[in-house]
Amino acid sequence: MTDTFFQPVSGFELPRFAGVPSFMRLPVVQPGHPRFGDVQIGLVGVPWDSGTTNRPGPRHGPRALRDASTMIRAMHPVTHQRPFVSHRCADLGDVGPNPANIDDSMTRITAFYAQLVQKGIRPLTAGGDHLTSLPVLRALAADGPLGMVHFDSHTDLYNEYFGGARYTHGTPFRRAVEEGLLDPTRVVQIGIRGTMYDTEDRDFAKAAGIRVIAIEECMARGWADVMAEARQIAGSEPTYVSYDIDFVDPAFAPGTGTPEVGGPTSFDALSVVRQLHGLDIVGADLVEVSPPFDLGGATAYLGASLMFELLCAMAAEPDKGAWV
Ligand code: MN
Ligand code: MN
Repeated sequence: MTDTFFQPVSGFELPRFAGVPSFMRLPVVQPGHPRFGDVQIGLVGVPWDSGTTNRPGPRHGPRALRDASTMIRAMHPVTHQRPFVSHRCADLGDVGPNPANIDDSMTRITAFYAQLVQKGIRPLTAGGDHLTSLPVLRALAADGPLGMVHFDSHTDLYNEYFGGARYTHGTPFRRAVEEGLLDPTRVVQIGIRGTMYDTEDRDFAKAAGIRVIAIEECMARGWADVMAEARQIAGSEPTYVSYDIDFVDPAFAPGTGTPEVGGPTSFDALSVVRQLHGLDIVGADLVEVSPPFDLGGATAYLGASLMFELLCAMAAEPDKGAWV
Protein backbone atom coordinates (compact mmCIF):
# COMPACT_ATOMS: atom_id res chain seq x y z
CA MET A 1 0.00 0.00 0.00
CA THR A 2 1.25 3.48 -0.86
CA ASP A 3 2.59 5.48 2.08
CA THR A 4 0.72 8.76 1.61
CA PHE A 5 3.25 10.69 3.69
CA PHE A 6 5.89 10.24 0.98
CA GLN A 7 3.74 11.37 -1.96
CA PRO A 8 4.66 14.61 -3.73
CA VAL A 9 2.17 17.45 -3.87
CA SER A 10 0.21 17.06 -7.11
CA GLY A 11 -0.20 19.90 -9.59
CA PHE A 12 -3.90 18.95 -9.58
CA GLU A 13 -4.09 19.99 -5.91
CA LEU A 14 -1.79 22.99 -5.65
CA PRO A 15 -0.52 24.93 -8.67
CA ARG A 16 3.13 24.19 -9.43
CA PHE A 17 4.19 27.79 -8.85
CA ALA A 18 2.73 27.76 -5.34
CA GLY A 19 4.10 26.37 -2.11
CA VAL A 20 7.60 26.03 -0.63
CA PRO A 21 9.70 24.26 -3.28
CA SER A 22 11.25 20.95 -2.26
CA PHE A 23 12.82 18.47 -4.71
CA MET A 24 9.95 17.20 -6.90
CA ARG A 25 7.48 18.54 -4.30
CA LEU A 26 8.38 15.68 -1.93
CA PRO A 27 8.17 15.98 1.86
CA VAL A 28 11.26 17.43 3.53
CA VAL A 29 12.62 14.80 5.92
CA GLN A 30 15.88 15.84 7.54
CA PRO A 31 17.93 13.79 10.03
CA GLY A 32 16.03 13.65 13.31
CA HIS A 33 12.62 13.65 11.60
CA PRO A 34 10.49 10.71 12.85
CA ARG A 35 10.19 9.30 9.29
CA PHE A 36 13.89 9.73 8.40
CA GLY A 37 14.65 6.04 8.86
CA ASP A 38 11.81 5.07 6.50
CA VAL A 39 13.29 6.87 3.48
CA GLN A 40 14.60 4.58 0.73
CA ILE A 41 15.85 7.14 -1.79
CA GLY A 42 16.89 10.55 -0.44
CA LEU A 43 17.30 13.66 -2.58
CA VAL A 44 20.07 15.81 -1.14
CA GLY A 45 21.33 19.28 -2.03
CA VAL A 46 25.01 20.10 -1.72
CA PRO A 47 25.26 23.87 -2.36
CA TRP A 48 29.03 23.98 -2.66
CA ASP A 49 31.42 25.10 -5.39
CA SER A 50 34.74 25.58 -3.60
CA GLY A 51 36.33 23.11 -6.03
CA THR A 52 35.57 25.30 -9.03
CA THR A 53 38.66 26.43 -10.96
CA ASN A 54 37.04 28.90 -13.36
CA ARG A 55 33.44 30.20 -13.50
CA PRO A 56 31.64 29.57 -10.19
CA GLY A 57 27.95 29.27 -9.36
CA PRO A 58 26.96 25.64 -8.63
CA ARG A 59 26.55 26.59 -4.96
CA HIS A 60 23.25 28.01 -6.20
CA GLY A 61 22.37 24.77 -8.01
CA PRO A 62 20.23 22.97 -5.41
CA ARG A 63 17.88 25.94 -4.96
CA ALA A 64 17.38 26.38 -8.72
CA LEU A 65 16.93 22.62 -9.15
CA ARG A 66 14.33 22.48 -6.37
CA ASP A 67 12.41 25.30 -8.02
CA ALA A 68 12.60 23.76 -11.52
CA SER A 69 11.73 20.31 -10.15
CA THR A 70 8.24 21.50 -9.21
CA MET A 71 7.56 20.89 -12.94
CA ILE A 72 8.21 17.14 -12.54
CA ARG A 73 5.10 14.94 -12.48
CA ALA A 74 4.83 11.55 -10.82
CA MET A 75 4.95 9.13 -13.79
CA HIS A 76 7.79 8.50 -16.23
CA PRO A 77 6.65 9.23 -19.81
CA VAL A 78 8.36 6.22 -21.42
CA THR A 79 8.66 3.50 -18.78
CA HIS A 80 5.47 4.50 -16.91
CA GLN A 81 7.39 4.02 -13.66
CA ARG A 82 5.97 5.65 -10.54
CA PRO A 83 9.11 6.03 -8.40
CA PHE A 84 7.24 7.78 -5.57
CA VAL A 85 4.91 4.77 -5.30
CA SER A 86 7.53 2.03 -5.66
CA HIS A 87 9.95 3.72 -3.23
CA ARG A 88 9.68 6.05 -0.25
CA CYS A 89 11.43 9.18 -1.54
CA ALA A 90 12.03 12.45 0.31
CA ASP A 91 13.95 15.71 0.13
CA LEU A 92 16.60 15.34 2.84
CA GLY A 93 17.52 19.02 2.73
CA ASP A 94 20.96 20.49 2.12
CA VAL A 95 24.34 19.58 3.54
CA GLY A 96 25.72 22.84 4.88
CA PRO A 97 29.28 23.27 3.59
CA ASN A 98 32.00 25.58 4.88
CA PRO A 99 32.59 27.78 1.81
CA ALA A 100 35.90 28.95 3.25
CA ASN A 101 37.39 25.50 3.87
CA ILE A 102 37.47 22.59 1.41
CA ASP A 103 38.63 19.93 3.88
CA ASP A 104 36.01 20.90 6.45
CA SER A 105 33.31 20.88 3.78
CA MET A 106 34.30 17.40 2.63
CA THR A 107 34.27 16.15 6.23
CA ARG A 108 30.75 17.51 6.71
CA ILE A 109 29.50 16.02 3.44
CA THR A 110 30.97 12.57 4.15
CA ALA A 111 29.50 12.60 7.67
CA PHE A 112 26.02 13.41 6.29
CA TYR A 113 26.16 10.63 3.70
CA ALA A 114 27.53 8.15 6.25
CA GLN A 115 24.24 8.59 8.14
CA LEU A 116 22.35 7.69 4.96
CA VAL A 117 24.47 4.57 4.41
CA GLN A 118 23.85 3.57 8.01
CA LYS A 119 20.06 3.89 7.50
CA GLY A 120 20.11 2.16 4.12
CA ILE A 121 19.02 5.34 2.30
CA ARG A 122 20.31 5.62 -1.28
CA PRO A 123 21.21 9.24 -2.14
CA LEU A 124 20.42 11.22 -5.27
CA THR A 125 22.50 14.37 -5.00
CA ALA A 126 22.03 17.79 -6.56
CA GLY A 127 25.37 19.61 -6.65
CA GLY A 128 27.43 21.53 -6.24
CA ASP A 129 30.49 21.31 -8.46
CA HIS A 130 32.03 17.96 -9.33
CA LEU A 131 34.31 17.84 -6.30
CA THR A 132 31.06 17.05 -4.43
CA SER A 133 31.23 13.46 -5.71
CA LEU A 134 34.46 12.72 -3.78
CA PRO A 135 33.17 13.16 -0.21
CA VAL A 136 29.95 11.37 -1.21
CA LEU A 137 31.95 8.40 -2.53
CA ARG A 138 34.00 8.33 0.68
CA ALA A 139 30.79 7.48 2.54
CA LEU A 140 29.22 5.19 -0.08
CA ALA A 141 32.36 3.14 -0.77
CA ALA A 142 33.09 2.46 2.90
CA ASP A 143 32.67 -1.29 2.31
CA GLY A 144 34.73 -1.48 -0.86
CA PRO A 145 35.29 0.11 -4.23
CA LEU A 146 32.34 0.88 -6.50
CA GLY A 147 31.90 0.88 -10.26
CA MET A 148 30.91 4.17 -11.86
CA VAL A 149 29.16 5.37 -14.97
CA HIS A 150 30.27 8.98 -15.47
CA PHE A 151 28.71 11.39 -17.99
CA ASP A 152 30.82 14.49 -18.57
CA SER A 153 32.76 16.53 -21.09
CA HIS A 154 35.78 16.09 -18.84
CA THR A 155 37.49 13.13 -17.19
CA ASP A 156 38.09 15.01 -13.91
CA LEU A 157 41.19 12.83 -13.55
CA TYR A 158 43.83 15.55 -13.26
CA ASN A 159 46.34 15.33 -10.41
CA GLU A 160 46.52 18.92 -9.22
CA TYR A 161 45.89 22.56 -10.16
CA PHE A 162 47.82 25.76 -9.45
CA GLY A 163 50.86 23.93 -8.13
CA GLY A 164 49.52 21.72 -5.37
CA ALA A 165 45.72 22.05 -5.23
CA ARG A 166 44.71 18.37 -5.14
CA TYR A 167 41.01 18.89 -4.39
CA THR A 168 39.24 20.66 -7.26
CA HIS A 169 36.37 19.76 -9.58
CA GLY A 170 39.01 18.61 -12.07
CA THR A 171 40.51 15.98 -9.73
CA PRO A 172 37.77 14.08 -7.83
CA PHE A 173 37.99 10.77 -9.65
CA ARG A 174 41.80 10.69 -9.58
CA ARG A 175 41.52 10.96 -5.79
CA ALA A 176 38.67 8.43 -5.68
CA VAL A 177 40.77 5.84 -7.53
CA GLU A 178 43.82 6.56 -5.34
CA GLU A 179 41.69 6.22 -2.20
CA GLY A 180 40.26 2.88 -3.34
CA LEU A 181 36.70 4.25 -3.60
CA LEU A 182 36.34 3.24 -7.25
CA ASP A 183 37.39 0.06 -9.04
CA PRO A 184 38.92 1.65 -12.16
CA THR A 185 38.23 -1.45 -14.25
CA ARG A 186 34.50 -0.86 -13.57
CA VAL A 187 34.57 2.86 -14.41
CA VAL A 188 33.41 4.27 -17.75
CA GLN A 189 33.54 7.96 -18.71
CA ILE A 190 31.20 8.98 -21.51
CA GLY A 191 31.05 12.06 -23.76
CA ILE A 192 34.57 13.38 -23.14
CA ARG A 193 35.52 16.32 -25.37
CA GLY A 194 36.94 19.82 -25.50
CA THR A 195 40.41 21.29 -25.75
CA MET A 196 42.98 19.74 -23.45
CA TYR A 197 45.87 20.90 -21.29
CA ASP A 198 47.79 17.74 -22.21
CA THR A 199 47.19 13.98 -22.08
CA GLU A 200 47.89 13.56 -18.36
CA ASP A 201 44.30 12.62 -17.51
CA ARG A 202 44.01 10.19 -20.41
CA ASP A 203 47.37 8.64 -19.51
CA PHE A 204 46.17 8.09 -15.94
CA ALA A 205 42.93 6.53 -17.21
CA LYS A 206 44.80 4.18 -19.50
CA ALA A 207 47.26 3.11 -16.82
CA ALA A 208 44.46 2.56 -14.28
CA GLY A 209 42.18 0.69 -16.71
CA ILE A 210 39.42 3.31 -16.88
CA ARG A 211 37.41 3.23 -20.12
CA VAL A 212 37.14 6.73 -21.65
CA ILE A 213 34.62 7.06 -24.49
CA ALA A 214 35.12 10.34 -26.31
CA ILE A 215 32.17 12.11 -27.93
CA GLU A 216 33.45 11.25 -31.41
CA GLU A 217 33.16 7.54 -30.61
CA CYS A 218 29.71 8.05 -29.04
CA MET A 219 28.40 9.80 -32.13
CA ALA A 220 29.98 7.28 -34.54
CA ARG A 221 28.65 4.20 -32.71
CA GLY A 222 25.35 5.56 -31.45
CA TRP A 223 24.18 5.80 -27.84
CA ALA A 224 22.56 2.36 -27.60
CA ASP A 225 25.82 0.62 -28.49
CA VAL A 226 27.85 2.85 -26.14
CA MET A 227 25.44 2.31 -23.26
CA ALA A 228 25.46 -1.47 -23.78
CA GLU A 229 29.22 -1.33 -23.30
CA ALA A 230 28.80 0.92 -20.25
CA ARG A 231 26.43 -1.59 -18.61
CA GLN A 232 28.89 -4.38 -19.33
CA ILE A 233 31.78 -2.42 -17.75
CA ALA A 234 29.80 -1.57 -14.60
CA GLY A 235 28.51 -5.14 -14.36
CA SER A 236 26.17 -6.41 -11.66
CA GLU A 237 28.10 -5.13 -8.63
CA PRO A 238 27.31 -1.85 -6.78
CA THR A 239 27.68 1.15 -9.08
CA TYR A 240 27.60 4.93 -8.68
CA VAL A 241 26.30 7.24 -11.41
CA SER A 242 27.80 10.71 -11.72
CA TYR A 243 26.28 13.14 -14.20
CA ASP A 244 27.96 16.47 -14.96
CA ILE A 245 25.45 18.74 -16.74
CA ASP A 246 28.27 19.87 -19.07
CA PHE A 247 27.95 16.43 -20.73
CA VAL A 248 25.03 18.04 -22.56
CA ASP A 249 25.66 20.47 -25.41
CA PRO A 250 25.71 24.07 -24.09
CA ALA A 251 22.95 24.92 -26.58
CA PHE A 252 20.70 22.91 -24.23
CA ALA A 253 22.58 23.48 -20.97
CA PRO A 254 24.25 26.91 -20.99
CA GLY A 255 24.10 27.27 -17.21
CA THR A 256 27.37 25.63 -16.31
CA GLY A 257 30.91 26.75 -15.56
CA THR A 258 32.91 24.75 -18.11
CA PRO A 259 30.75 24.34 -21.23
CA GLU A 260 32.11 22.32 -24.17
CA VAL A 261 30.49 22.54 -27.58
CA GLY A 262 29.74 19.53 -29.78
CA GLY A 263 27.77 17.49 -27.26
CA PRO A 264 24.53 15.50 -27.08
CA THR A 265 21.05 16.97 -27.31
CA SER A 266 18.74 17.11 -24.30
CA PHE A 267 16.83 14.13 -25.82
CA ASP A 268 19.96 11.95 -25.85
CA ALA A 269 21.00 13.32 -22.45
CA LEU A 270 17.79 11.90 -20.95
CA SER A 271 17.73 8.63 -22.88
CA VAL A 272 21.24 7.54 -21.85
CA VAL A 273 20.10 7.50 -18.22
CA ARG A 274 17.19 5.23 -19.14
CA GLN A 275 19.76 2.84 -20.56
CA LEU A 276 21.28 2.42 -17.09
CA HIS A 277 18.31 0.32 -15.98
CA GLY A 278 19.54 -3.08 -14.86
CA LEU A 279 22.51 -1.75 -12.90
CA ASP A 280 22.76 -1.95 -9.11
CA ILE A 281 22.84 1.81 -8.49
CA VAL A 282 23.85 2.70 -4.92
CA GLY A 283 23.74 6.46 -5.49
CA ALA A 284 23.78 9.12 -8.17
CA ASP A 285 24.50 12.80 -8.58
CA LEU A 286 23.73 15.66 -10.97
CA VAL A 287 26.38 18.34 -10.66
CA GLU A 288 27.70 21.59 -12.14
CA VAL A 289 24.38 23.39 -12.72
CA SER A 290 25.34 27.05 -12.37
CA PRO A 291 22.22 29.28 -12.23
CA PRO A 292 24.11 32.59 -12.72
CA PHE A 293 25.04 31.40 -16.25
CA ASP A 294 21.63 29.90 -17.01
CA LEU A 295 19.22 31.29 -19.59
CA GLY A 296 15.56 31.35 -18.64
CA GLY A 297 16.00 28.38 -16.31
CA ALA A 298 16.62 25.98 -19.23
CA THR A 299 19.58 24.26 -17.58
CA ALA A 300 17.85 23.96 -14.23
CA TYR A 301 14.81 22.38 -15.87
CA LEU A 302 16.97 19.94 -17.81
CA GLY A 303 18.86 19.21 -14.58
CA ALA A 304 15.63 18.54 -12.69
CA SER A 305 14.46 16.28 -15.54
CA LEU A 306 17.77 14.41 -15.41
CA MET A 307 17.33 13.97 -11.66
CA PHE A 308 13.95 12.35 -12.35
CA GLU A 309 15.56 10.04 -14.93
CA LEU A 310 18.29 9.15 -12.40
CA LEU A 311 15.64 8.53 -9.74
CA CYS A 312 13.79 6.18 -12.11
CA ALA A 313 17.04 4.35 -12.90
CA MET A 314 17.60 3.93 -9.15
CA ALA A 315 14.00 2.74 -8.73
CA ALA A 316 14.20 0.23 -11.60
CA GLU A 317 14.50 -3.41 -10.61
CA PRO A 318 17.95 -4.67 -11.70
CA ASP A 319 16.62 -8.10 -12.64
CA LYS A 320 14.30 -6.56 -15.22
CA GLY A 321 17.35 -5.54 -17.22
CA ALA A 322 17.90 -2.53 -19.41
CA TRP A 323 15.19 -0.35 -20.88
CA VAL A 324 16.28 -0.06 -24.51
MN1 MN B 1 32.88 17.06 -14.13
MN1 MN C 1 32.64 18.69 -16.89
